[in-house]
Amino acid sequence: MKPIVFTDLDGSLLDHENYSCEEARPALNLLQEKNIPVIPNTSKTLAELLPIRKSIGNHDPFIVENGAAIYIPEGYFKHQPQHTKTITFKGEKFWEFSQAYPRSHWTNLLMKINWRYPDDYISFSQLGISGILKCTGLGLEESIQANERKFSEPILWLGKQQAKKNFIHSVRSAGAEVVEGGRFIHIIDASTDKASAMNKLIDLFELNNQQSKLQSIALGDSKNDVSMLNEADFAAVIKSPFHSRPPLQRDEGTYISSDFGPRGWNQVIQKILIEHFINQ
Ligand SMILES: [Mg+2]
Repeated sequence: MKPIVFTDLDGSLLDHENYSCEEARPALNLLQEKNIPVIPNTSKTLAELLPIRKSIGNHDPFIVENGAAIYIPEGYFKHQPQHTKTITFKGEKFWEFSQAYPRSHWTNLLMKINWRYPDDYISFSQLGISGILKCTGLGLEESIQANERKFSEPILWLGKQQAKKNFIHSVRSAGAEVVEGGRFIHIIDASTDKASAMNKLIDLFELNNQQSKLQSIALGDSKNDVSMLNEADFAAVIKSPFHSRPPLQRDEGTYISSDFGPRGWNQVIQKILIEHFINQ
């Protein structure tokens, strides 16, 4: 069985503070050497992924905005998968697969319910580039990229926990899913999540490479990773210094890193590869 890796970025492959993956470099090199695909599966946007993929040296497909869309570099598979469209973004061509409502659908929904939660949250649209820059610690270019969203609207919760519960209930009743990431709450199409996008992409890989079934390894640190961590063949929870470990509905095939962020990523992926895929 050939492995395929699906990984969260912030707080997992990338350091929560400085967004660096250097501490995971030995494992990334090993994966590259073994020709094992590494699929970023993130709340980040297409615009944010392009420079990150370059800095990691990654050329594989990726999943953005918490499962809302899959991007496959044009020509990555022998045939263009069904129900994908070819898009060009900043000079690069991708096959895009998405069934999610656009961002405007969710910003319109927030406008409708905003009067009930006037001072409880601030959305990316309300924050603007300078606000995003302040909240995230990202640079100007990265803040612009973070705001180039197509399918989801992140909000920063400022109010009380009870108001947050009521808000989540309101948004869910209107057909959205609410996904809590490291910093932001993401309002997104309820029909999408990191797990369904992961499963869709595994199907595409298997269709393209019919001789071998794949075994998925998922890595993540937050609540928004739980769906893919539950459904992957192997789950690696990356320890976070900022929040408690997300609860999984499984024990078998589950690994917990003892280090934080990319250092933990480096440790746990090597352990899984050695125990299950290398030197067997
Ligand atoms: Mg994370």
